[in-house]
Amino acid sequence: MTQRPYTIDTLISAKRIAARVEQLAEEIHDEFEGTDKLVVVGLLRGSFVFIADVVRELDLPVEVDFLEASSYGNAMESSREVRILKDLRGEIAGRDVLVVEDIVDTGHTLTQVVKLLQAKDPKKLRTIALLDKPSRREVDIKADWTGFEIPDEFVVGYGIDFAQRNRNLPYIGSVRFLDET
Ligand code: 5GP
Ligand code: MG
Ligand code: MG
Repeated sequence: MTQRPYTIDTLISAKRIAARVEQLAEEIHDEFEGTDKLVVVGLLRGSFVFIADVVRELDLPVEVDFLEASSYGNAMESSREVRILKDLRGEIAGRDVLVVEDIVDTGHTLTQVVKLLQAKDPKKLRTIALLDKPSRREVDIKADWTGFEIPDEFVVGYGIDFAQRNRNLPYIGSVRFLDET
């Protein structure tokens, strides 16, 4: 299948993202101050840029780990079923944990991931999502911290892909198809 032609409109500039990451890091710092070593868990692959920026703004001892759960694939449909494709490498029992997600959309992914991680008995578990699309929610969940609330648009950039492209854009853009009337 050939790719439909599309263009990307800037939704959130790199500058706005950086300013927000700084604020969020301060709040996370206050929440976890005094921690022995915070385990920051990035949900692959969409959160890899966000987690890199967050941990570099965070003045706390951190360990970085990753978890991969299945979500979109190459289609623009959210799957209801969440499968763990890659589990954590480290132990989180009795530890402080921060889960870093790119987007909370229907809420299924974050709900399932939190459930899975809670079962491992962390001391404290908190969640942060760069983006939130509240209008799309199917499960009642909200990340403890949210970077930006956005409308129901398909976004790319800053780690987030469309068919494995555009993750390297330094800003968040929304995909607009040029063949749409
Ligand atoms: P949920 O389980 O909350 O419906 O889905 C969350 C996941 O769907 C996100 O982590 C992200 O991977 C994917 N997703 C949701 N909205 C978008 C979007 O606008 N663009 C892209 N590329 N992925 C999205
Ligand atoms: Mg994701
Ligand atoms: Mg994806």
